[in-house]
Order: sequence, then C-alpha cells, then structure tokens
Amino acid sequence: MSDKYDCIVVGAGPAGSMAAKEMAENDVDVLLLEKHPEIGVPLSCAEAISFSGLTDFVPIDPEWICTQVQKVLLVSPSNIKMELHHPNAGFILNRKLFDKRLAEKAVSCGACLKVNVQAIGLLKNKKGEFCGVRVLETCSERSESDRKEKEYEAKVIIGADGVESNVARWSGMDFCLGLDQIGSSAQYLLDQVEVEPDCTEFYFGQTLAPRGYAWVFPKGNSRANVGLVIASDRSKEKKAKEYLDEFVTKRFYNFKIAESMMGGIPCFDRHKNLVKENVLLVGDAGRVVDSLSGAGISTALLSGKIAGSVVSQYIKNGNSSVSFLKRYYDELMHIRGRLLRFHTFCRAIFLRMTDEYLDAVISFLKEYFDDKVVTGLEPIPLVKTILRSNPRLLLLLRHLVW
Ligand SMILES: Cc1cc2nc3c(=O)[nH]c(=O)nc-3n(C[C@H](O)[C@H](O)[C@H](O)COP(=O)(O)OP(=O)(O)OC[C@H]3O[C@@H](n4cnc5c(N)ncnc54)[C@H](O)[C@@H]3O)c2cc1C
Repeated sequence: MSDKYDCIVVGAGPAGSMAAKEMAENDVDVLLLEKHPEIGVPLSCAEAISFSGLTDFVPIDPEWICTQVQKVLLVSPSNIKMELHHPNAGFILNRKLFDKRLAEKAVSCGACLKVNVQAIGLLKNKKGEFCGVRVLETCSERSESDRKEKEYEAKVIIGADGVESNVARWSGMDFCLGLDQIGSSAQYLLDQVEVEPDCTEFYFGQTLAPRGYAWVFPKGNSRANVGLVIASDRSKEKKAKEYLDEFVTKRFYNFKIAESMMGGIPCFDRHKNLVKENVLLVGDAGRVVDSLSGAGISTALLSGKIAGSVVSQYIKNGNSSVSFLKRYYDELMHIRGRLLRFHTFCRAIFLRMTDEYLDAVISFLKEYFDDKVVTGLEPIPLVKTILRSNPRLLLLLRHLVW
C-alpha cells in the first residue's frame, strides 16, 4: 500500500521544514519525514546565526532566541585580542525550539509531518524514474522494534537529510566527502560559566585547534555552547573532543557539562550537482554551507525556500519537463553562488595559515576597526583589504592559484 504526494521531503531540519512550508503555502501536497521522534533532537549545532541570515526568512520570535550578539571577540594564537562592536551581529538560537516551530509552521500551512519515520531508500517506477520513498515507520513509541516498512509515492523528492545524506547517495549524486572537505567538531553545552552575555568568542591556533578554531557562544543564564572544529586529517593523532577538553579547562575556572555532541562540518563544493531528475538536495545534504565558518542554518533556510518555490511552480505547471527543476540550482547560485565560492576560497587560504599569519591578520583587524562600532560587514571587500595588508598573505594566494 502506498500513499501519494506531490513532493516528499526527507528530514525536518531547517532546510526540510522551510521547503515544506514554502510548498504547503503554494497548495502543494507535501509529506515531511523525520526519523527522530522529536524535531530538533538530538542537535549538533552551536546555534549562531547572523541577523539577516535569520530575518530574511522568518519573523523573530523571542521564544526561540537565547541571546542577541552585539560583540565578537577574536583571540589570536599569541593572545592578541580584537573586539568588534556590532550591535546587530546576530543571535544565538534555541534550535531545539526553532526547528520544532518551523516544522509546526509547515504543518499549519498544510504539510503532512510524520516523525519516527526513517527513509531507507528511493522507489523507482518501471521506466527507472524516481517515484517515491521507502520508509521504516516506528509504530509504537514504547518499542523501537515495532517497525513497519511502507512506501510513499511522489512526483518530486527533496533530500534535506543533513550532512550524512542518504538521499544524495541513493539518487546517485554522490556526496562522499574527502578528508579535506569536512571538519571534525566537538561541542559542549556548559552550565555555570562566566561569559559576556552578548559576546561571541573565537580562538585560533594550531595547538589549540589545528586548521580550525574554538568558539564560545553565550546562551544566557550562565550557559554557553563551547566547541571547536579541526581539520579531519588531524583528528587521527588527537580527537576534536580531546582538544576541546584542553580548551575548556584553560578558558573556564568553573563549568558543568550539560550536553555534549560531535559532528562533521562539510564545505561547499561548486562542482557538485544539487538536482538529478526529480530529486533535489537542500541544506547540508547538498553541502550548501559557508565553508569558512561552517555555518549552515541560514543557507539551509535559503536553499529550502528556493527549492520549495521551484517545486511548487513545477507541480502547478503540470506538464513541465523535470529539467525545469534545475532552476533550483540556477536560482540558488544566482543569489548565493558568489559568496559560497568566495568562502570556500577563503577556507583554502585559512587552512594554509600558520600561527604567525593568524597573529598578523588579527593584529591588522584590531588596528583596522580600532574600537569603531560596526553596523554591517561586507566580507568580500574586507578580505581583499586583509590580503592587501600583508604581502605574505598574497604569497599564500599565489600557492593556491598555481
Ligand atoms: C558542532 C556543530 C556546530 C554548528 N554550529 C553552527 C552554527 O553556530 N551556526 C550555523 O549556522 N550552523 C552551524 N552548524 C551547521 C548547522 O548545524 C547545519 O548547517 C544545519 O543544521 C543544516 O540544516 P539541515 O536542515 O540541512 O540539516 P539538519 O539540521 O542536519 O537536519 C537534517 C534532518 O534530517 C533528518 N534525517 C536524516 N536522515 C533521515 C532519514 N533517512 N529519514 C528521515 N529523516 C532523516 C535528521 O534527523 C535531521 O532532523 C554546526 C554544525 C555542527 C556539527
């Protein structure tokens, strides 16, 4: 027995729920599947998002805002500190609530949400076209073993199943990540810590977090997300969690670990396709992330919204060819491609920077901003200025080009 929908979205993270909401608003019959019983749990995220990265897509609700970020502290390997005052920098979210509310919004617009339902494969019709999703449904909340296989048919499938996307693999859009394309991260939610409530902190250095960085993001009430990311090829010698334990004991006198998490942080790859026939990939599943910082919430929302809009037009037109769906990729690249590629380029420079370079860049920024209050940052001109400030950084660039 199979049920039929216009579109099935696999994964109810920000990308999937945004896509489902967009389609439901356009009267598309959409099924949103989530393998976990509770949306937003478990969570692998430090929950930071820029002001426009959030407000461009959803109206702010104080319920899921933990703190508003007004300052950013950068600490170099030799402890040069630079503080940037930026009144509207962004927010630290309560993502467990944010993800729930976004999925609920999709449902209130008409999407059908099924939790405890894990996609386990794609269906193909006799012509070899993708025509739905095979799932395992957990029927009783009390027993994980009480699981039934079921099939759902759909004209379009959206893979929003995160960094380890199976939809990408099943559809043949192979998203195997090389070690240089993914960072290893570890994070604690710490209680009883002393932090400035409106300041995010970033720490750099090859002994602290090789080819990565550590962060402290305040969540209010003496809580903070404290984590770090390192280059994956370095994690063979010492795991991200071991680096994190060292960092935490150096940074805090008092702390209590409330939660811990680990996860991979992918980087964007301009050569990967995000559409194959009637299957689209959004958010982390398509690696639509800011490769420099690893931030992916905002790009998940953006890619979900564009995919949802393109699929809605495709369904409404009725007789368009599936090649119409390629518009999703074209529109996404038109809006965000330049920045995604730029961040990937910056990441490549960052990965080659020694502690000496990092010290030089943070010293330069300290002088450049000189306690000025910043109201908006344009990343591309800023990075160009940094590169021009230090001829040795330009030499690094030369190594990338040749
Ligand atoms: C340690 C860490 C810190 C981070 N910090 C930040 C940050 O501060 N700011 C930021 O912007 N980004 C951050 N990120 C990245 C951010 O978390 C992701 O980019 C974002 O969650 C991507 O959203 P998504 O909807 O694409 O995927 P996800 O949020 O991963 O959602 C995917 C969903 O699909 C579900 N799913 C998976 N497989 C199946 C299946 N087979 N069937 C049904 N459901 C399935 C999952 O359960 C999940 O709910 C961080 C990542 C990590 C690992």
